[in-house]
Amino acid sequence: MFREVVIGLGNNPLVENVVKRYGMQMGASRFVAGRTLPDAVRVIQDINRQGVMVTLDHLGESVKNRTEAVQAKESYLAMLDVIKQKELNANVSLKLTMMGLALDEDLARRHLAEIVQKAAETDNFVRIDMEDSPYTEVTLRLYEEMWDAYAPHVGVVLQAYLYRTLDDLKRLSTPPRNFRIVKGAYMEPVAVAFPNKADVDENYYRLVTTSLELGNYTAIATHDEALIGRILQFIHNAAIPRDQFEFQMLYGVKFSVLKSLAREGYRTRVYVPYGEDWYAYYVRRIAERPANLLFFMRALADR
Ligand code: FAD
Repeated sequence: MFREVVIGLGNNPLVENVVKRYGMQMGASRFVAGRTLPDAVRVIQDINRQGVMVTLDHLGESVKNRTEAVQAKESYLAMLDVIKQKELNANVSLKLTMMGLALDEDLARRHLAEIVQKAAETDNFVRIDMEDSPYTEVTLRLYEEMWDAYAPHVGVVLQAYLYRTLDDLKRLSTPPRNFRIVKGAYMEPVAVAFPNKADVDENYYRLVTTSLELGNYTAIATHDEALIGRILQFIHNAAIPRDQFEFQMLYGVKFSVLKSLAREGYRTRVYVPYGEDWYAYYVRRIAERPANLLFFMRALADR
């Protein structure tokens, strides 16, 4: 309910104007590494020094024209170059609507292929983020195509709130592939997604354990410590090798938990977003936690 209200408000142009004007000083900078790639590089170096890997996201989604989609593709090619030059322990995460998917599937396919090819050449990796449900099918289809051409340099995200995901996971696990499993961040209708959080949490556990059992490399992307505890117990009982999975969290959320997992010898990674286009990302982060909205409202009132 809280999520629906916040995401609904986030679509209001007036709210968008206010938040865009003041948001960076009032909370967004907690979740966003900065406006430019050099800002992000400094953050990555700091995170790497603490024994944690990064996945770098250039913020942006639903570009409005082909020129913006080409610019987005170019920015990802540049990110892969900088990661290589500066020897950062980082890969990249991208959204297909930023590559032009809503304008032309073929354009997005060509952009994605260029980026994944570059990742293969620079011995790196591209994670395709998952967006809202109108894009699920096409995202998984493009992922399979890229995997066939460039495995193992590409992975995709699966969302536990969708009813379809367990079937998708099973279908896509021959051969074993590479998945990040998340609960899901968008507002989805009850026709496609579990409305109750407890069902999403239970499906999350089922998806992660099934993914590991089927031999996939699995990125366990959640801040839910109870779930992480249950999953660690499963990993221990099933003797899953430590190089078959990693824990991931978002920049600005529970870094201390991730660091203690790193100290225990688990692979860990922070999702680091940067760029001018931080608004939609920030709204989703607020929607995940009422306390984040309170923090924003207090900062607004103090101005
Ligand atoms: P929750 O049950 O929501 O949260 C568990 C606890 O974590 C909360 O009680 C709170 O203490 C803390 N917490 C969670 N979120 C926040 C926050 N924003 N601020 C402060 N504390 C918080 N979603 C997609 O739909 N597509 C993607 O491609 C995608 N990629 C992601 C990549 C990574 C690395 C991560 C960590 C998440 C990603 N998500 C993505 C978001 C995900 O779907 C969830 O919306 C988000 O992770 C919150 O769910 P949770 O698993 O942490 O569990």
